[in-house]
This record gives sequence, structure tokens and C-alpha cells, in this order.
Amino acid sequence: MRTYINSLDMGNTPFLQELETKALADRVPIIRREMQSFIKMFLAVNRPKRILEVGTAIGFSTLLMCEYGPEDLEIVTIENYEKRIPIAKENFRRAGREAQITLLEGDALSGSYDFIFMDAAKGQYINWLPDVMRLMKNGGVLISDNVLQEGDIIESHYLVERRNRTIYKRMREYLYELKHNPSLITSIIPLGDGVTVSVKQE
Ligand code: SAH
Ligand code: MG
Repeated sequence: MRTYINSLDMGNTPFLQELETKALADRVPIIRREMQSFIKMFLAVNRPKRILEVGTAIGFSTLLMCEYGPEDLEIVTIENYEKRIPIAKENFRRAGREAQITLLEGDALSGSYDFIFMDAAKGQYINWLPDVMRLMKNGGVLISDNVLQEGDIIESHYLVERRNRTIYKRMREYLYELKHNPSLITSIIPLGDGVTVSVKQE
């Protein structure tokens, strides 16, 4: 199904195409084709003005959102792996998008956002959640990537490889929280590696 779905995809701008090819060759994680297309659709529906992204890597998804979001879009994106920060900055410069993007190194956060894209280390989503709730506007949307952990999430704890168990436990907690927090309405979608879309309500 995925191969067919992706075969219908028209692709991205040549610069994004180049970044994607490079990221795949260098084994830098980036959002998958299905997720790229989902985010483009979401940006067209939601027209967010201020996005917070947790997990920049080399800035592929950041630049995709700049390219396909509204013209006056601002993005704050966070990355904590020093080696990737200068590469991301250089990519923002080459794409001519420096004015729209603020890259934070580390994790102190303030402000208020209408769209938060959670794509950091999977085992840390649950730790980010209190900040995310604080930073998200009422009516704001949280989209989290890779929540189904390549299918591990539905297995019994014992069938999950030992090294993936902490992530498994924390991701289950995260999904439970997204579905049970009274301020959130969440849909879990088996797209790509699993995506959640949550809307914050008063
Ligand atoms: N969104 C990117 C891919 C991000 S990969 C894209 O699609 O192009 C996940 C990134 O999150 C990695 O580069 C990792 O270093 C970073 N990361 C993991 N935990 C983090 C944290 N607590 N704070 C900031 N960045 C984090
Ligand atoms: Mg990811």
C-alpha cells in the first residue's frame, strides 16, 4: 500500500529533493514520504502562523513546512545534537529561509504556537508533553511522528527487544496520555511509522 501511495506523490522542490537524497545517503532521519504529504495537506487546511518543531536534524521537515506553509509562517525548531546544528543552519541559508526560522540549541522554551510538530527522540515525547501543553494555544494542533514504533507498540512487552523496551513503555504512556488528557482530542493514524494528531481544547 505504501509503495503505491508514494508512487502517486509528485515530490518536492529540487532543493528539498537534494536534501532528502543526501539525508537518506548519510542516514540522517527525516520524515517519510507519506508524512511529508500529510504535513503539506495539514498546512493547507490549518494555515498555522507559528510552528514549533522538536527535532530539527538537518532541517528537512523545517524547510518542507516553510515551502508549503503560508508565506508569513515562522518556525522555531529545536535540536540538541551539535553536529547537526551547523548543517541545518547552512541548509536554511542555502534555501533563503533564515529570516523565517529560529534554531534553538538545547531545550529552554517559551512562546505560544498554533502547530507543534513532535519529531525528537521517541523515548522523550512523554517528557516534552507538559511543555507542549503549556506552549500550545487553545485550538492548536500537535502532530507527533513515529508513534507506532515500526509496529512494536502493539506487541506484548516481552516480545519487544530489550533495547527498545524503554521507548515502548514511554511511547505507550504518551499515547495513553494523548487519548486521556481532557484538554486533548487525539486521533492515532497508522500512516508512515504512525502519527497522532491532537487538538487542544479549553
Ligand atoms: N524533523 C526532522 C527529523 C528529526 S530526527 C526531519 O524530518 O527532517 C530527530 C532529531 O531530534 C535528531 O536530530 C535528534 O538529535 C533530535 N533530538 C532528539 N531528542 C531531542 C531533544 N530532547 N531536544 C532537541 N532535539 C532532540
Ligand atoms: Mg522521526
